[in-house]
Amino acid sequence: MTWDSLSRIVVVGGGVAAQRCLWRLRDLGYDRGLTMVSEEGYLPYDRTQVSKELLRGGVAEGELALATEGEYAERGIELRLGSAAVALEPAARKIVLSDAGALDYDRLVIATGGRPRLPPRLREVGVHLLRSRSDAARLREELAWSASVAIVGGGFIGGEVATAARAAGLKVTLIEAAAWPLSAGFGDEVGKRIAALHRAAGVDLRCGVTARTVGRSGEQWRLQLSDGGRISADTVVVGVGMQPNTEWLHGSGVTVAEGVLTDENCRTKMPGILAAGDCARFSHRAYGRPVRIEHWQAAMRHGEIAAHNALGEDSAFAPVPFFWSDQHGVKHQSCGLPAGFDEVSVTELGSETAYIARYRQRGRLIAAFAAGSPVELARARKELFEARPVAAV
Ligand SMILES: Cc1cc2nc3c(=O)[nH]c(=O)nc-3n(C[C@H](O)[C@H](O)[C@H](O)COP(=O)(O)OP(=O)(O)OC[C@H]3O[C@@H](n4cnc5c(N)ncnc54)[C@H](O)[C@@H]3O)c2cc1C
Repeated sequence: MTWDSLSRIVVVGGGVAAQRCLWRLRDLGYDRGLTMVSEEGYLPYDRTQVSKELLRGGVAEGELALATEGEYAERGIELRLGSAAVALEPAARKIVLSDAGALDYDRLVIATGGRPRLPPRLREVGVHLLRSRSDAARLREELAWSASVAIVGGGFIGGEVATAARAAGLKVTLIEAAAWPLSAGFGDEVGKRIAALHRAAGVDLRCGVTARTVGRSGEQWRLQLSDGGRISADTVVVGVGMQPNTEWLHGSGVTVAEGVLTDENCRTKMPGILAAGDCARFSHRAYGRPVRIEHWQAAMRHGEIAAHNALGEDSAFAPVPFFWSDQHGVKHQSCGLPAGFDEVSVTELGSETAYIARYRQRGRLIAAFAAGSPVELARARKELFEARPVAAV
């Protein structure tokens, strides 16, 4: 590997994909200019704890940093924190920043992740979203004086907020558009079990309904549901998925289609521009189509692979996706992608909250979802790794 022609690599984004990319570039011996630009005003941190320990108050914000400022300095990484990339001029190899500055690059790694989706009908000042440490701090503060919370979206984030709020003794209403929480991705068998877990924890779960409107009435929020129901709550949180942060690439020539489109080597069609992490939709050789993965371990590994390829290697990124979520004291984990399954078998593992669901397509295992059983999930994960020649993440 040679980087004689490179004088600066810029990584735009301040999440785990960016941090792992920066570290790997130095580990590979790249010793020229290296800059990280992050819209957030603090160093990359463990985002998975935003809806877990941080929301519960079990950890302080500063404890979540993936590395200290000193470690960035030791590695000669220039930090542009609190500064967003607002435009890209590939012909001039220039990134325009929100603080009126601009940065030249020889290689650019886009690792801008995503932000929570907020349907227009729910856009009201005071409605909470959860993506960053600051979001968690604001929500925690409000939950501390709230007696009730309405959560729109029964996915992993909604489920984790429900967990933290029930642990704090709040009345929790969880509103899920599908027939069961998580059933859109993992099917009804798993969805029913997740519903039972929420209800056993005292969550008032409303499935098959959407929040039509949200507005304030005096001190409280009022939500109007699609089935005619009404809910009052002190706090409202919306967790209905995320969208990639790609607007700043508009007009640059970088292809954006539900994420920054890349090949399996993290490369966009624009010379010298790569992408990694939640913002990237990359060709995956095992799935035969571009995929975008919103999982912590994938983002880490993707950032590392992008570092190799920024220096001229051709390393393919083709992970078996792996995810976890903690809800009401039960660890849930998944591996693979269940989309397109035609058969699901659920095996109970000694208690109501311990089971594994295995998803098959034409008889072949494509994914698994386990509750309360990391050992079983690890077995399924190994099976998936062995079934296809892809990189383990
Ligand atoms: C609350 C929460 C809990 C989660 N829990 C789990 C879990 O338990 N398990 C799991 O596997 N995954 C979990 N995830 C998903 C996981 O955290 C993500 O997959 C991972 O953080 C993605 O990392 P990333 O670096 O690609 O993007 P991000 O973490 O989104 O980082 C992107 C960074 O880029 C910055 N940025 C955006 N636009 C610009 C711009 N124009 N200029 C400069 N900077 C910009 C952002 O401010 C941010 O700092 C969770 C996610 C959330 C939000």
